[in-house]
Amino acid sequence: MYSASVLLLGSLLASCSTPPTGGPPDYGDETDTGSETGTDTGTDTGSDTGGETAETGNDSGGGAKTIVVVVLDTGRYQLFEQGTMPLLYGRRAEGLYVDTFAGVEAWTLPTTASLMSGVRLEERGVDPDDKFLPPGAIKLVSEAFQKDGWATLLASANEVMSANLFAGFDEKLKHSYDWSLADQTAEVISWLEGVPEEQPRFVWIQAMNLHVPYDKLHASCEAPAVAADAECPENVIYTTGDGGFVPGEFRNLSEAETAACSAAIEVAHRCVATQVDLELDALIQALPSDALIVVVTDHGEGWLDPSVEHNWGATVKLTRSFALLLHPGLAGQTVPLASQVDLAPTLLKWAGLDYASADIEGVPIGEPLLEPPTTWHCDGHGHLAIAAWDETYQLVYNDHLNNQYYELFALQDDPGGDVDLAFTTELPEALLAALDAKYSRTASLCPADG
Ligand SMILES: [Zn+2]
Repeated sequence: MYSASVLLLGSLLASCSTPPTGGPPDYGDETDTGSETGTDTGTDTGSDTGGETAETGNDSGGGAKTIVVVVLDTGRYQLFEQGTMPLLYGRRAEGLYVDTFAGVEAWTLPTTASLMSGVRLEERGVDPDDKFLPPGAIKLVSEAFQKDGWATLLASANEVMSANLFAGFDEKLKHSYDWSLADQTAEVISWLEGVPEEQPRFVWIQAMNLHVPYDKLHASCEAPAVAADAECPENVIYTTGDGGFVPGEFRNLSEAETAACSAAIEVAHRCVATQVDLELDALIQALPSDALIVVVTDHGEGWLDPSVEHNWGATVKLTRSFALLLHPGLAGQTVPLASQVDLAPTLLKWAGLDYASADIEGVPIGEPLLEPPTTWHCDGHGHLAIAAWDETYQLVYNDHLNNQYYELFALQDDPGGDVDLAFTTELPEALLAALDAKYSRTASLCPADG
């Protein structure tokens, strides 16, 4: 299987429109240092995973590939630091770390659709803010894996995702948002143990633990959250009567309550993230040591911003994410900028499957980007915000009724997008051009309020 994969990869790269220069990371087996040149394709035996130290995992004996993608729903970029997620942060050198993993949208369905397919919905003329995807609108990598004989599992605690993005999965484990990552891990490991040894396996986990409300499930986080400020009604942080994520009564908070709740939710969010960090580390340790484990987030979120739909949610400027691709063969690599549409081709390439002809917008992570990554969000009331990214900046164009303006954020100094530099810094020309082109292609999907 590995020989075939490497051969295919070599021919794919030869025919790919992206010049194979610039030292793209090697997604092949960890002992293979030159697969992109196609020069070392004849030596693998097929049964060797190349893992001189790779056979220490719990069930990797047959040498079949394992890919596990973990999406930490609403995991903001700023959570990924030493103080909040120390275990995951400490693993950066164990794989390929993408510092800015540009989100394509501001909420789960479109971002996860792009992660799984390598395309942006709005670029296909599909409104990314609809709750349901038109049937057949996109093709998921899970379909390619399944077709190629991989065992495929979806373990999702996000219902909007379960209702839209399940094609190509042999088995679907659906749970509600309060299902912990530890519970998901137990199910995933049990499923992996049932897969025939020689069969490669692909697992997609959508974990909801970082998403409001921070339910009683997270018992250890209750105290600091409530203690943060007693002026915040408890139901803002925890489940409300209808069990929904974002209760309408958020809108009715007083100014003082809004401030108190913003602070309280921030504390709760970080507390939960530290808990998730532990559970995620346990998952990583339970997987075969030669598995490719991808940890990404779908979008960030903002607290109680009255200008944002639901009074909670993500704006385009909060779509910065990170990605960590853990694998011994990728250790120590850093990529400054990639887009969520780049994950699908990365996974297909890793598996030795055809991505070049798969109608995908992205490129395998680490290869030169074809164009600046872009983000798109319409608030349903004619407010369109689009962003373009380079390694230094995120440039946002807001189009709201008669009000059009730019915002510019420096990625290194200001990860939260707190300081708008649009009035003090010359706007990068390439990003302006990318926004212009994006606007002309997609603005029609965001008509003004009727
Ligand atoms: Zn989400």
